[in-house]
Amino acid sequence: MFYPDYRFKKISDIRPDFLLGRGLRFLVLDVDNTLTTHGHPVPAKGVLEWLQEMSQAGIQSVILSNNNAKRVEPFAGKLGLPYIADGRKPLCSGYERCLNLLHCRKEEMAAIGDQLFTDILGARRFGIASILVDPIQAEDFWLFKCKRTLENGLLCYYKKQGRSGYDG
Ligand SMILES: [Mg+2]
Repeated sequence: MFYPDYRFKKISDIRPDFLLGRGLRFLVLDVDNTLTTHGHPVPAKGVLEWLQEMSQAGIQSVILSNNNAKRVEPFAGKLGLPYIADGRKPLCSGYERCLNLLHCRKEEMAAIGDQLFTDILGARRFGIASILVDPIQAEDFWLFKCKRTLENGLLCYYKKQGRSGYDG
């Protein structure tokens, strides 16, 4: 339930061909530690160029964040993307809203994020492809440290089962 369909070190490692070859043309993007570091107003290096490549390849994106509109709206504006704030991942409601916004089918959608317990679990529950990226920066908040420890434990467990490598 927590295991991502695909895994990459960073978002810009995901190539349009990789997605299109799997019929994935619509992306649900996490913000914090996926497109930039926590609370940071500027996209991480390479993110704008990556988004441009995606849209040139006909791949559409929407932002789905558990963070509030005050944080998400200006960031989404910078990227020129529609957004849903207070997304309540891993609940399905936010993903449902993305699907309606993008006018697409579940089989064409993939969610990209850095957290197993929100981004990946939510995508799996909703029934769309899930892509895990490494967090851009380690968090210092204690709750995050606990979550990351659990996540790393799970990823280690999956690795022992021989299912862990990166896809690119
Ligand atoms: Mg995140």
